[in-house]
Order: sequence, then structure tokens, then C-alpha cells
Amino acid sequence: MGNFINVILPIPLERSFTYSITEEEATLLQPGMRVAVPFGKTKIYTGIVHSVHQKPPEAYEAKEIHQLLDDYPIINPIQLKHWEWIASYYMCTLGEVVRSALPSAFLLESETLVVRNTEYEVDENELLDDEFLVFEALQHQSILKVQEVSAIIERKNVLPILQRLLEKKIIVLKEEVYEQYRPKLVRYVKLGAEYDADEKLEELLNSLKRAPKQSQVVLTLFQLQGRSQKPIKVSELEKASNTSKAVIKSLVDKVVLEEYFIKTDRVNFGGSSDDSETKDLNEYQTSALIDIKKAFKEKKVTLLKGVTSSGKTEVYVKLIEECLEKGLQALYLLPEIALTTQLISRLQEYFGEKIAVYHSKYNVQERVEVWQNVLQAKPKAQLVIGARSAMYLPFSKLGLVIVDEEHESSFKQFDPAPRYHARDAAIVLGNLHSANVLLGSATPSVETYYNAKTGKYGFTEITRRYGDVLMPEMELVDIKEATRKKRMKGHFSERLLLEMQETLIEGNQIILFQNRRGFAPLLECLTCGHTPQCPNCDVSLTYHQFRNQLRCHYCGHHTALPESCFACGSPDLDTKGFGTEQIEKEVIGLFPDAKVGRMDLDTTRGKHGYEKIITAFEQQELDILVGTQMLTKGLDFRNVNLVGVMNADSLLNFPDYRAHERTYQLLTQVSGRAGRTKKRGKVIIQTYNPYHQILKQVTTSDYEGMYKEQLDERAQFKYPPVNRIIKVTFKHKNYNVLNEAADWFVGALRSNFGGTVLGPEYPPVARIRNQYLKHIVVKVEKVQSLAQTKANIRRIEKSFKAVAMYRSVRVIYNVDHI
Ligand code: ADP
Ligand code: ZN
Ligand code: ZN
Repeated sequence: MGNFINVILPIPLERSFTYSITEEEATLLQPGMRVAVPFGKTKIYTGIVHSVHQKPPEAYEAKEIHQLLDDYPIINPIQLKHWEWIASYYMCTLGEVVRSALPSAFLLESETLVVRNTEYEVDENELLDDEFLVFEALQHQSILKVQEVSAIIERKNVLPILQRLLEKKIIVLKEEVYEQYRPKLVRYVKLGAEYDADEKLEELLNSLKRAPKQSQVVLTLFQLQGRSQKPIKVSELEKASNTSKAVIKSLVDKVVLEEYFIKTDRVNFGGSSDDSETKDLNEYQTSALIDIKKAFKEKKVTLLKGVTSSGKTEVYVKLIEECLEKGLQALYLLPEIALTTQLISRLQEYFGEKIAVYHSKYNVQERVEVWQNVLQAKPKAQLVIGARSAMYLPFSKLGLVIVDEEHESSFKQFDPAPRYHARDAAIVLGNLHSANVLLGSATPSVETYYNAKTGKYGFTEITRRYGDVLMPEMELVDIKEATRKKRMKGHFSERLLLEMQETLIEGNQIILFQNRRGFAPLLECLTCGHTPQCPNCDVSLTYHQFRNQLRCHYCGHHTALPESCFACGSPDLDTKGFGTEQIEKEVIGLFPDAKVGRMDLDTTRGKHGYEKIITAFEQQELDILVGTQMLTKGLDFRNVNLVGVMNADSLLNFPDYRAHERTYQLLTQVSGRAGRTKKRGKVIIQTYNPYHQILKQVTTSDYEGMYKEQLDERAQFKYPPVNRIIKVTFKHKNYNVLNEAADWFVGALRSNFGGTVLGPEYPPVARIRNQYLKHIVVKVEKVQSLAQTKANIRRIEKSFKAVAMYRSVRVIYNVDHI
């Protein structure tokens, strides 16, 4: 009888794989540890031990594992349970969940690419022999596959070596080279202890007479030390003494200088005043807090609906405080774009070093650090704030989950699998930990509000802004009329321009909101009407003024701006539609004295791009900020008095059953950026449809009206929350194969399944990256079992995949949120 483990491999395969292990390994291995295993003929993967047992596999001979990678589990049993739920609920494999959950540094495999970390000075003496070989190879060849590393050191088991090299910062994974790297350790120098006394120093300087550069370094260091007590960085010394690293290094080698390191934390808080008193809540906040706690007693997920600037964050803070006092961990989830330094430093004031931040702009090593801190339940990761992937962290004693801006659609992951909704998955996580879960929003999603109304969730509300600041005054401006009468200046109505002028004169700031979707500027031929298309996708190319290019937003295809029409050769080309770039340009023309900034995907690339613009605006270096949905979230600007919505219609016209709900949310949120202090703010919404019901609801803050109407519609057309839905997407490069496949599948669904099946239909963009797409939507009545439906669909997929021609068709599921 042998010993075996079942291993989850980070690949989309249904089952886990069984490997054989030695007697000794059997005593060491536990579920949640990582092992390096061979797979197929040549591949090596990092897998997660799922179970240790003595049952050999029936269908194949178990291979041996290569190596243990951990001394202790890095994934705990609650996580495994949670991930199994995610795989089953969102119809994907456990391996796909593992791949999405773990920082990639935890999942080295034969296909991983590594490169030298050029930001780090390597001391070759620190390296072990095998490490040195890899390091040396990377001097000659900039990129190595893990497989190649294996050949270089003539060993199969290279993952542990690479892991060491990663930890020592000597290599980085290829995928993260473009991220800005911030070293964790900063190098400092001081004069060797021996030279403390003055006469020793003189002796030293004498001895360095023939090495002027070296003596220059020593003198400079002496001066710097005299000036302040602060430690002196190597880089600082190098600059001040006007020498090179090599000179400093030779002094270090002679022990004239001593080198030391100070660990700097990745998230630099600056001026942290640990644990300052939290604010006293006002009566509305207090009563909300009481309601929430009452609901928590009944173990209920609870919704806090509070208008923008009502002080929801301060209520969260009280709950977090209590949670941490009990020695439990707290998770604070936010949409990625709301995760700003503003919010972090605000929480930092109260919770100081107990906060860990986790999101996608952090590099792999930083994420590994947070993972380890949470795993070991360290004090410095008691409160984790992060975007959706933070719910994958190894919490062991979670007491509270907060999902802020719970209505945000970016909580849903669309690609790759698992296609989960982080709010919903976080609720399940909370249940597994018996933790309290609070959802917060000024504009709850229809689903959540429905759950609150029907008593499934607890509910409480704050209807006033903190400090009795008034809600901004909202005004709809009809630009259809204005356009007809030719009274628009570019995209600006007279009304908006007037308000802008006044605001600037009063020394206040302005936000102009331009929806990201639907208004990308296109190039159009004035002679024949042709608009250039992407060769790989069924969409028009959009015009980027900044680079003078045409680009595809789906696949990244780009070409230089043509001088004449591709179709007819005419040179009369015009740009149609308008994006943030266009608006910015117009604003500069209209208000030449104002300082204008722009915030969109193009201007916020890189780790700190976003912060820079926010800080500039916050410190009033900018008067007007033009931006997309990015600026609607969680930002608290004190001096903004006017918000202009350039065009509300593109939001409304989006072909999606949530379009109206989203429009309400977005416009309310963006309006919420206006007048957050004593002076009442103003919001101008330009539209071609001033009588549209949703716009009226926005201007009168009629959330209830919006909710009722939307719910009626959803009931009528069988959408969530009244029904449940699953969308099945088919993807293939051959148009005919795709059509046949989708027809086959829908036929099988219709004959097997009682619910409503819609489609197959092409999505608005029916070809992306040369792959054709088609959807089927399955609507499931609440009385039907969702699990049973999924099992049926899975069974149909099995027979489908048995048809040779369909095997290469990709089948993708989206559950609940489509
Ligand atoms: P929301 O998250 O609901 O939009 P915030 O929590 O950002 O609102 O609060 C809006 C503003 O009011 C913030 O500047 C915050 O510091 C302030 N504020 C909220 N509650 C209090 C309180 N109890 N005492 C003092 N200031 C408060
Ligand atoms: Zn033309
Ligand atoms: Zn394309």
C-alpha cells in the first residue's frame, strides 16, 4: 500500500490528479501545501495538495511528485471550501479558481518566464552555487523559461531555487517587469564603528590621501551625519559626494563604511498617527450603527444605504474597531478604482499599522507579503483593504466583511474564469467564517435592495449628508434644442458654460464627466461615409488624438492615422463622437486661463498615475478635471462645486437590462462629488432626452421610484432578482462551426429543460480577436433548483464535447451577472 496525494493543478481540468509520495513525505504533507509535480510529457506545475490518502488512482499509474514547496499550508481549509463553492457556483474548475486566487509567484511552472531584476544590485557572494548559475545565465540571455533553467542546472526540480531567487529579488517574473519596482530594503551607510573617535577619523583621512575619491566620500558622509541624525542612504551619499557606487563599495569592502538595511513598508503611510480616536457619530450614523448591530445579532447580511457623503465610512470604522478589539480580522472590499490613497490614509489615521492593502497594481512580491501576513494572522494585516481578489486571502478568523459601493459592476470578473461576483462570493466567505457582512452604497443594486426589502438582508438607511450639507442642486439641460438652434459651443451648452464661469470666478473647482462607453471618437470619411474597422474584431477603430492613431479597444490593434480614406481615397476625414480628450481640448480653448486635467485609462497608467492626478486636483493645482467613470468613486474633494455631465444619453442607450439602473447609479455617484462642504453644489446634466424617466428620477433622488420600475421590468422579462440567469457563450474562429454548435446546444437545452431559453444570438460585438461569439441565455425560475439546472447544462456540455466538430468550440458560463 502506497501513499498518495490528490493535487489541484492550476489548469481548467475537471478532476484533481493523484500523485504518489514517499512515507516521509506522507508525514509532512498536509492539504493546502504546494508541491512541484510533473504533468504530461514535459510540463512541471505547482499544485496544491487537496488530500493525503492511500488510494491509488484507478485509471492511470500515479507519478511521483518532484518536490515539496512549503513547510506549512499556505491555504487553509476554509479557503478550499470557499473556492470549491466558487468553482461549483460559477461553473468552472477548482484549478481555475486556484490560478486566479494565488499570487503568480506562488505558482511557478515550466512555462513561467523569468528575467533578471535589473533594479537590484546583486552581491554574488550571497548566492548559492545553483543560484549563481541561473544568475549568470540571465546575464547572457534576457529571458529564461523555467524549463531552460532546468537544463542549465541539470536538474528537474528548479522551482525551489527560483523561489529563493525571487525572494532574494534577483529575478522577477516576466509578467511584472513593466511594473515599477520598489525595493523593500533600502541600503544605508554609516562610518565603521572603529572610526568613531576624531583622531581615528583623521588617521583614516590621511591614509586615504592617495585615493581622493574615497576620501571625498568619507568627508561627505561625515558632513551629512553632522547635519542631521537621519540615517543616510547609499544613493544619497553617492549623489552628495559626486562619486560612484563602486567607490562606496570599495570602502565598504575595507570596512571603512558599514552598510545596513532598513525595511521600508510597501505601503508608505507617512506621518502615521497610530490609533487616533475615531470620530463621534452624529445621530443618524448612530442610529444606523444600532440597526446594523441588531441585524448582525440575527446573523444577517446587512445593507447600509446612505446618500453620498452621509458618513458611511465612519460607520464602517466603528464596526472595524470592534472587530479588531475582539482579535478578529476584517476585510474591506472596494471596487479597484475606488481604492485610493485618500481612503487608505483616512483609515490609516485610526488603524495605523494594522492595515494591509491588496490589489492588482501591486507586484507579485508585495502580494506574497500580504498573503503571508494574513496567513500568520499578523497584527499588521488585521484589516485588509482591497479589490475583489482580496477575498481570496488566507483569513483564519474573519469577523467582519464590508463591501463598499456594493452596486459597482466591477466587482464582477468577466475574464478569465472564475467569472465570479466578489460581493456575492464575499457573502459566502462571511458565512463560512460566521462573520458579519455589511454592504454599503448610496445607490444599492436592485438585487441587494430586493434582498433587503424581502427580509433576507438586514437594512438601515442614512438620508442626510454629514454636517447637514445639502444635496447638490440638479438641473437637466436639453441639448437637442440647443443643437438645433446652433447654440452649442462644441459640446457645451450655454447653461453649462455660464455655471463654469461662475464657479471659476468664485475660485471653486469643476468636474466634467464624460462616459467612457459609446462615445469613443471615430474617424469618418466625409465623401463616402466609411469608418475604418478593426481587421480582427467587428468594431470601428477609435481615434486617439494623443498618439495620432486609430486603435481597437478590444484587441489593441492600432495603425497611424490615415491621410486619406481607405475606401475611396478622399482626404476629407473627420472625427466623430467625442471622448475625454476632445472635451479637454475644448475646455482649454474655452477657458484658456484655467488649469485643466484629464483622468481616464490613458492618463492613469502605471502604478501611481491615478494618485498623481487626484493629488493635483485635491491640492487645487487643477481647476477643471475631465474624466470618465473613474472619478465617480469614493473621492472626497472639498472644493468641487460644479459637476457637469456632458451627455447622459450614451448611458441610457446601452443594450443591457441593467442600463437604466446603472445610469441612475452613475449619475447619482458623480453628482455626489459636488458640494461636499457647506456651500451647496450644482450638477448640470446635458441630454437629448430631458423627459426620460431615469433622468427625472436622478434629479429628484427618487431611488424608490427607480427601484420599483426596474423591478417591474425585471419581473416582466424574467431577469434577476426575480429570476436567475445563466449565460452560455460560444467562441470559435469558424463562423459556420460556431453557428452549428450554438444551434445544437440550444436544441439540447430546449428539449431537456423547462425554463426559458433565449438565443442563440450574436452580441453587439460579434467577433473579437478573430473569434466569433454567440450567446444563449437560460432563465431559471426561483422555484427551480439552480444547482440542478447547472448539472443539466454540464451534462449537455459533455455530450456536446463528444461531437468531434464541436470539440474546439469554447463554452463559457456566466452566472447571475451577464
Ligand atoms: P460617504 O462614504 O457616505 O460618502 P464619508 O464617510 O466620506 O461619506 O463622509 C463624508 C465627509 O464627512 C468626510 O469628509 C468625513 O470625514 C465627514 N464625516 C463623516 N462622519 C463624520 C463624523 N461623525 N464626524 C466628523 N466628520 C465626519
Ligand atoms: Zn471615403
Ligand atoms: Zn480588434
